[in-house]
Amino acid sequence: MKLGFEDLQAPFRSGSQNARAWTERWVADWVYCPNCGNPKINQLPANLPVADFLCPSCGDQYELKSQKKPFGAKVVDGAFSKKQERLASSSSPNLLLLNYDLSEQSVRNLCIVPKHFFVPEVIEERKPLAPTARRAGWIGSNILLSQIPQSGRVFIVQDGRPLSKDSVLTKWRRTLFLRNETTEARGWLIEVMNCLDSMGKREFTLDEAYAFEDTLAAIYPQNRNVRPKIRQQLQFLRDRGYLEFVSRGRYKLRTSD
Ligand SMILES: [Zn+2]
Repeated sequence: MKLGFEDLQAPFRSGSQNARAWTERWVADWVYCPNCGNPKINQLPANLPVADFLCPSCGDQYELKSQKKPFGAKVVDGAFSKKQERLASSSSPNLLLLNYDLSEQSVRNLCIVPKHFFVPEVIEERKPLAPTARRAGWIGSNILLSQIPQSGRVFIVQDGRPLSKDSVLTKWRRTLFLRNETTEARGWLIEVMNCLDSMGKREFTLDEAYAFEDTLAAIYPQNRNVRPKIRQQLQFLRDRGYLEFVSRGRYKLRTSD
């Protein structure tokens, strides 16, 4: 994988439009499908509202966001109502987050968030545009990257270094079981994954997981049985190979990196 941009023509007057063209070309040239391992993903015709790239082998779609600043806690996305609608459908795209270095004209980071991590909890509704705006009243959305667990941030390039394709595919497959779950079930699992991340260690006890009872109760105020729910999620994650059972009341995160 070469990280520099090819063909640095500047057909547009705006720098960001040129960067968009360069990064799209780079993705089409170098990025493989992390879902099935196909060597290429194909660029879709411009202005298709759905996605930017399509894997010809497995049919997974990809939306590309590229910027020169590293991605922070949130990233601006499209219309909130559309975003909400698509969460429920299986055609939603995976998200490619590409961060480039303009002076080096090359890719610094490429992180992919698999589509199964998109649940209502990570989509934030923005304020309607002011009455003076051209699209007055239009409501956009933010994707809360800070609410995506580590296992849902699959780096293909990190700090200017490509990761091995094997390790990328392994990490991707580790959470693929989420695709078979309903949006609601995924929401719970993803929130519990976030709690486990915030412990900052691989091995933990059931009691340590129960310590997140208040955090989870605040996210799901209608649920009166948070502890049993936590336990159920841990068992589910263990059955899917995300966690290992060490001994009574002790669990361990299985990591691929
Ligand atoms: Zn594929």
